[in-house]
Amino acid sequence: MEKFIYLVPFDKIDKDLLDFLLENLPKIISYSVKKYLSLPIPSNAYNPERNQYLSSPFLDILTKLKIPDSFKILGITNVDLYTPGLNFIFGQAKLNGREALVSIARLDNSFYGLPKDQEVLYIRSLKESVHELGHTLGLSHCPNPECVMHFSNSISDTDRKSYNFCPICKLSLSYLF
Ligand SMILES: [Zn+2]
Ligand SMILES: [Zn+2]
Repeated sequence: MEKFIYLVPFDKIDKDLLDFLLENLPKIISYSVKKYLSLPIPSNAYNPERNQYLSSPFLDILTKLKIPDSFKILGITNVDLYTPGLNFIFGQAKLNGREALVSIARLDNSFYGLPKDQEVLYIRSLKESVHELGHTLGLSHCPNPECVMHFSNSISDTDRKSYNFCPICKLSLSYLF
């Protein structure tokens, strides 16, 4: 059976952004990508003290999804995510697992009090999506600051890195495909 990478929007995600990812992810990961139906935000994820959402309930939902032709599943949410011990996360994934998650909340310039910039948001979303999917493909963080697998501590790290894998990460992936 042919398998696909599935994008799973939580709640409402801009359709043009999803289409951008559907079009561009296969150019970088060389795997067919499909969109799954939208799922509700997990009700147990919200932490009112932090005004943020815990990431693990999102990943739990993705883990339980039965999609027979899924190779990888990437959840996408608008809400600001955190995990215990970190102030926030751009995304999360299981190393070599099936599930990954990206939050676009801090990828939008408006989060930083700057005017909205759709193109910037789309490119950052592509980078963080490739990054989290890279973890599911077995890649750890890369020391090369221009590699998509470089860890983003802040949005400037995301802006510095490209949406592509560096030659070394590409070589690791080449054993997979
Ligand atoms: Zn990472
Ligand atoms: Zn790399």
